[in-house]
Amino acid sequence: MTRQRRLILEEVRRCGGHLTADEVYQRVRKSLPTISLGTVYRNLDVLSRTGEILRVQLAGDQMRFDANTRPHSHVRCRECGRVCDVEVEFQILDERVAQQSGYEVLEHRLEFSGICPRCRGVETPSTAEADARTTRHL
Ligand SMILES: [Zn+2]
Ligand SMILES: [Zn+2]
Repeated sequence: MTRQRRLILEEVRRCGGHLTADEVYQRVRKSLPTISLGTVYRNLDVLSRTGEILRVQLAGDQMRFDANTRPHSHVRCRECGRVCDVEVEFQILDERVAQQSGYEVLEHRLEFSGICPRCRGVETPSTAEADARTTRHL
């Protein structure tokens, strides 16, 4: 793995969130000022094809990159656009769909949207922790 690619992977992992290619570029540029956006795109593409990171494409949003590669869903804030991970038990849904349609279900896409605690003015321990993480690495 090249130094560029390792740095890109580290940035995606470090933010603990879901970055767009441009956000990754802005961060990586701090340690590699000569890197181009094209190089960042190419490396993100390779990293997602090798399964090191996931591509996240939510409706009406830009492509984002996720260091959490376990199966999970996303909830997106309609106010600020923040994306959080959620784990939902999907097996029952897959079974229901299989029963109703007779299909063998191989994949499902489910996304949630709403207003995040920060935009609602409610601070929870998990958002405070996420904020601390974000602020430290800005
Ligand atoms: Zn929000
Ligand atoms: Zn995620």
